[in-house]
Amino acid sequence: MMPLIAITSLQTPPLVTDAKLAALPAHPRLLATKAELEAAKRKPENKAFLDGLLARAETLSKKPVVLPERGGQWPHWYACKTHGARLKTESPTRHVCPVDGQVYTGWPYDDVPLLAEHNDWASALRDLGLAYQLSGERRYAQKAREILLAYAVKYPGYAYHDKDGKTGTGGGKVGPQTLDEAVWLIPMAQGADLVWETLSESERATLKTDLFFPAAEVIRKHKMGVHNIQCWKNSAVGLVALLYGDKALLAEAIDDPERGLQRQLREGITDDGPWYEGAWSYHFYTMSALAPLMEAGYHAGLPLYSGTLGERYKKLYLAAIRMALPGGQLPAFNDSNAATAMSNPLYETAFVRFQDPQLALPLTTSPRKTLPAFLAGAPPLPATASQTLPSEVFAAVGYAYLRAPGATLILKYGPHGGGHGHADKLNTVFFAGGKTLLDDPGTSVYGIPAHLGWYKTTLAHNTFVQAETNQAPATGRLLDFKTGTGWAAALADAGAAYEGTTLQRAAFLLGSDTAVFVDHAEQKAPGLLDLAIHPSFEPKSWLMQPGDVQSLPDKPGYRYLQAAKQTSSFSSYTDSSGFALSLVPLTTPTRYVIATGMGKSSEDRVPILLARTVEKSARWVWAIAPRGTTLTARTRGEEVLVEVNTPGKRSWQLRVTATTLDVK
Ligand SMILES: [Zn+2]
Ligand SMILES: [Zn+2]
Repeated sequence: MMPLIAITSLQTPPLVTDAKLAALPAHPRLLATKAELEAAKRKPENKAFLDGLLARAETLSKKPVVLPERGGQWPHWYACKTHGARLKTESPTRHVCPVDGQVYTGWPYDDVPLLAEHNDWASALRDLGLAYQLSGERRYAQKAREILLAYAVKYPGYAYHDKDGKTGTGGGKVGPQTLDEAVWLIPMAQGADLVWETLSESERATLKTDLFFPAAEVIRKHKMGVHNIQCWKNSAVGLVALLYGDKALLAEAIDDPERGLQRQLREGITDDGPWYEGAWSYHFYTMSALAPLMEAGYHAGLPLYSGTLGERYKKLYLAAIRMALPGGQLPAFNDSNAATAMSNPLYETAFVRFQDPQLALPLTTSPRKTLPAFLAGAPPLPATASQTLPSEVFAAVGYAYLRAPGATLILKYGPHGGGHGHADKLNTVFFAGGKTLLDDPGTSVYGIPAHLGWYKTTLAHNTFVQAETNQAPATGRLLDFKTGTGWAAALADAGAAYEGTTLQRAAFLLGSDTAVFVDHAEQKAPGLLDLAIHPSFEPKSWLMQPGDVQSLPDKPGYRYLQAAKQTSSFSSYTDSSGFALSLVPLTTPTRYVIATGMGKSSEDRVPILLARTVEKSARWVWAIAPRGTTLTARTRGEEVLVEVNTPGKRSWQLRVTATTLDVK
């Protein structure tokens, strides 16, 4: 029998070999090769981008190179503690909240803009290098060289620091995290590569010993597994390796069995295609992290776009198309804000490398005047018919997608999503009538209390909350999934979200504008249970509903609710959008709380309805549907039977058991 280690190495043979290193193409070879740049330059449709680039290089070539005296700080600090709003930089020591004018000064605020300055110098270097290659103007290369040598002087003296001002592993010199160091180092290496031919041997050696290898070392000594940050680090280290033709460094970036590019592609990209962290912001962030090394490796002759590695990588791009809401937006699940593949310039590169017409869709909304479009040559796009995506289950990430023309309902039941996950099993997003009617508020910058206090809490989501506490990280199960003419439905449970409690949701999309939910909770013992519903309705009118002023506990999520009222009855509320929220309690007594929670910021108030009970067993049937829709529901043994009627439309009979559902 073969030892395990041999099996592992068979699965991931090293791509970096002596033969590949011996056959590296001439510089430039990281961002683009000379041949690619020549071809890009000749394309008439690239003229606007080229003119813009040369104008920028002309300005930069006259700018004195004065690098910051120290490294920068964490951008997540740069928000008002009260409002979560991003601060405005009025001077190097004056950082102002745009909502209330509060002034922040000193550490860490003064240092955050310095990180942006470092990144600006890195982009300037890359742009000057590109402009030199495309125009042959030596003064652009001269300025690029000046930036590089200035960093070689400054970099050794920058203090190693992290976001809390300490010196533990994971910090950096230019930025407070190895992530920041890597994000900065990538365009630095690309820029050096573009002007390589103008640098002397001794300058290359100085840059190696005083800048590129020490920066790679800062990044390398912080070791992570499969993670978006490790992808940035691999790209930075891999680009430095390819800049100097260093085999050991390149092998580490690509073939390291714990954290190399190969493992990131094989294990970080789920079978459904989304990056495993489950947040679309990180999905696109990881795409940006992987792309520089994919391209540089491709130029170096590594077969990254072919075989199983290439298939995995392509899935990453296809997923963001297949899992979009109508119009292309992706749900703001986990630590993500609204995100979309539409117009994302990385699809330019993916489209030319894979030649798959599906990958062209996001480019149809792009003006295609980006660097990736320029380098890829902005080839003509195939005619893409706008087609309705099917209802389907993404089992690896745990989303059931119910779809109709112009409508999508998503039931989220899958894995937690690691450190960026939210405790939101059975959370639901519903889009119909041109807008999101049930939404996830997404996330905030991480430096403010609302991140943990609201956005990551269970209460902030359209799901169950037991005893006013967050669900535990859990993985639920899909119990049933069916589609028929004009409808789709899914039934899922919440796994071990609350120890000893069973939570189930049956979700139905009927026609293209009606969402019906049959929710069921079986608690271990009688106790407080809330069903939280966040309809994206107009908040002022929502709060006009009658009720007694209610104070809510100082607990995660609950402390962010405002204008709370309690009432003993709720049956239906119609919003000015024409959509109504209806609820039929099959459990009595049910009390209700009407309030607002937070949307994209503390100022963005979103209605919330809490249905509350203390019964051991609770069932509620509710719907978001056009005005006038009536909902009747009853139990028959363990079954729930629901009838849905909308004036002028067909009626629906729904049946839900503990393991199945059906529609007639
Ligand atoms: Zn403020
Ligand atoms: Zn969330």
